[in-house]
Amino acid sequence: MRIAELLAHGERNVEVTAKGWVRTKRGNKNVAFIALNDGSTIHNIQVVAETAAFDETLLKNITTGACLKVTGLLVDSPASGQPVEIQARTIEIYGLADPESYPLQKKGHTLEFLREIAHLRPRTNTFGAVFRIRHAMAYAIHKYFNDRGFYYWNSPLITASDAEGAGAMFRVTTLAPGETDFNEDFFGRPTNLTVSGQLEGELAAMALGQIYTFGPTFRAENSNTPRHLAEFWMVEPEMAFYEIEDNMNLAEDFIKYLVNYALEHCADDLAFLEKMYDAELTERLRFVTANDFVRLTYTEGVKILEEARDTKGVKFEFPVFWGADLAAEHERYLVEQHFRRPVIMTDYPKEIKAFYMKQNEDGRTVRGMDVLFPKIGEIIGGSEREADYDKLVARMDEMGVPTETMQWYLDTRRFGSAPHSGFGLGFERLVLFVTGMTNIRDVIPFPRTPKNAEF
Ligand code: ATP
Ligand code: MN
Repeated sequence: MRIAELLAHGERNVEVTAKGWVRTKRGNKNVAFIALNDGSTIHNIQVVAETAAFDETLLKNITTGACLKVTGLLVDSPASGQPVEIQARTIEIYGLADPESYPLQKKGHTLEFLREIAHLRPRTNTFGAVFRIRHAMAYAIHKYFNDRGFYYWNSPLITASDAEGAGAMFRVTTLAPGETDFNEDFFGRPTNLTVSGQLEGELAAMALGQIYTFGPTFRAENSNTPRHLAEFWMVEPEMAFYEIEDNMNLAEDFIKYLVNYALEHCADDLAFLEKMYDAELTERLRFVTANDFVRLTYTEGVKILEEARDTKGVKFEFPVFWGADLAAEHERYLVEQHFRRPVIMTDYPKEIKAFYMKQNEDGRTVRGMDVLFPKIGEIIGGSEREADYDKLVARMDEMGVPTETMQWYLDTRRFGSAPHSGFGLGFERLVLFVTGMTNIRDVIPFPRTPKNAEF
């Protein structure tokens, strides 16, 4: 049985076996108390070993990080804070962990240090909690969409199009350094790692109705921030017959569902993270599930920011004016200072948004929407898509997006076009929000960032 089960409903006074890694050992000359963890829960099970009953070397070798198999009676624990403990009858050491060289000792380590040993950090309480929550969120995403009749769709990771211009791309090639003839390359043309699965997702929505992708995406931006990774996971639902309003409703309902799922299913791990890192964590999560998101247009948002600057003396590092691409500081001012609630901003100037967004009547704005979150900034970016073939082609020409190589995409508008919408949720930004961690490198097992591809 896994330790989570033993703690939750293990039968008393029955012999049980537990296997796991030693977190701590303490005691005196008569008895050793070993805290054992197997990853199934944030909680350890206490193993009580009478020293007289065990070989001295064996007990000495039970050090932090060692892996054990313990058999013994499960009994009510006299100690507070734990329901049961195991009175050890036999202990087998699967693997030693030399205290001289095992880097994870009992004392707490900084998150920065733990990033340097990302291969071992899952064995800490913090990363156990984070990665269990990450798993729960992935499961909840699939459940949410499956329960609502969406199909899981897989867009390719290797692509020949830089359609979206969402970010700089990583080249995929088998050419040797110096070789420049792409005819000789593996695919016979330049290819890259995808920055988004959206365009292929749109093809699927125009056939299956409602789909979502959930996979890795890659951006070679040299942005060394606590919110950007070079390799990150994105969730991209795409829905036929959805207009921007429906898209906003889905995005809000989806995030609330996920946060609620974490509150219901990850209570122990959240309580640990709250105690260790972020005293307002669950309060913030509850707040998000309980309140409507503010909805406002970009134009209204810019007005609020200009007023804050001109009449309230708020200082921004980057300029605010109609047409500016809002920076994280602006988004966070609106969310954290002005509204104190998540915000869905819509109707952006067309110049700062992608070519595929539906153009508004005013000729200046497009039906894009960003969901802005406290502590995170942009957590979702989406839009209603331009469904009209001629308008789409005109916009692509204006923006220098090649239409010849994009015929496959334009075919959705040539044959049976329909209103449709979708959005992209950055999975790690969601996990950042839900765990209360502050650096995106701490919510993905092996972060890829500029100058770092360790492990
Ligand atoms: P930002 O302005 O924060 O760089 P973006 O506008 O470039 O993001 P989109 O292209 O709209 O991002 O991607 C959709 C979502 O993917 C974003 O809302 C965000 O949650 C997430 N995301 C984008 N870039 C990254 C990245 N480099 N690392 C992690 N998540 C990202
Ligand atoms: Mn965006």
